[in-house]
Amino acid sequence: MDTESLKISVIGEIDSRSHEFAELSLKIHANPELGFQEVKAAAWLTQYLEENDFSIERVICELPTAFRGSYGVGKPVIALLAEYDALPDLGHACGHNIIAACAVGAGVAAKLAIDQFGGSIVVIGTPAEELYGGKATMIDRGAFNDVDIAMMVHAGTYDTATIQVLACQHLEVEFFGKAAHAAGQPEAGINALEALMQSFAAINSLRQHIKDKARIHGIITDGGEAPNIVPAHSAGSFIVRAEEDAYLDELKERVLSCFVGAATASGARLEYRWGEVRYAPMRNNLTLARLFSQNMQSLGRQIKLFEPNHTFGSTDMGNVSQVVPGIHPFVAIAPIEVANHSPQFAAAAASEAGIRGLTDAAKALAMTVVDLTADSEIVSQVKQEFQQQNG
Ligand SMILES: [Zn+2]
Ligand SMILES: [Zn+2]
Repeated sequence: MDTESLKISVIGEIDSRSHEFAELSLKIHANPELGFQEVKAAAWLTQYLEENDFSIERVICELPTAFRGSYGVGKPVIALLAEYDALPDLGHACGHNIIAACAVGAGVAAKLAIDQFGGSIVVIGTPAEELYGGKATMIDRGAFNDVDIAMMVHAGTYDTATIQVLACQHLEVEFFGKAAHAAGQPEAGINALEALMQSFAAINSLRQHIKDKARIHGIITDGGEAPNIVPAHSAGSFIVRAEEDAYLDELKERVLSCFVGAATASGARLEYRWGEVRYAPMRNNLTLARLFSQNMQSLGRQIKLFEPNHTFGSTDMGNVSQVVPGIHPFVAIAPIEVANHSPQFAAAAASEAGIRGLTDAAKALAMTVVDLTADSEIVSQVKQEFQQQNG
């Protein structure tokens, strides 16, 4: 069978099973689980893959909710990545239920390409994208060692094949002051909350003079016990982001100075800890992005290779894209005014448009697997581009 006929078969396969993928997606949506606790989602996804002839490894990389389902043998090894963690209080407001069902759906349909042309498809279950950068841990533990190409599709408000994401790192801070009666003996106290508030003020000043796309944002997680006690302890959680790794390093120093300065001014003692995982910027593989775009366009989607209006935070897929060629396209499931990480986006992730996005993205991913397995020359081009970006 030639490539075009095989793509038609892949589309037919996904159409005939779209109710199964929708069911998986909606089930995960209705049972939101936080990072590293995605027990149900991992169980449902692996079960479905197993029923469809994938060999399954559960609990990989010493992570209870990470998994790998493989089909076929030999090269190229094409990975489709599933995310399935939800957000605190908001549920699936990032639509990771769609990412998961899309990866599994594309994987099952891509079996047709593997049967015809050889190579292997691996669906890798990557937990805890939102807060813990699960993929970074999985890279360190070897999950991508044998992978040639990695792809996933995220739900969004634009159809775009490439994304700009920011490098970022979390920062946890604590101030230790001294409790005292806030009215009776305020002079005896050292106010840890004031230290934290001064830090916010200093960061707000700093923000006027940083590069365009850099971001600094945080919350107070402990602001004291009662208004009549001078707070002896305060704590906050922050994220620092920048377009390039080098600028992130510079910005981290400047942000830290804000806390150090506030400690000096208030007399409170500062303790801080940078997050273990650092999210890397995305290295978009344009050869892959073009293939994916062409396949999406053939389905009638007006996808752009670059979407200048598209904004996004950070993703641990950025880390993956630094070690293997990869793409992280977006498929539109809601109008552009709907914000990611909002209740409206959570609703979109379970809507008809969400299911259409899932189905189209799964088709385009599986069709891209057809392109890659049919022609080893294309895989070489993908790798060549990656090496050049590396150099
Ligand atoms: Zn998110
Ligand atoms: Zn997300």
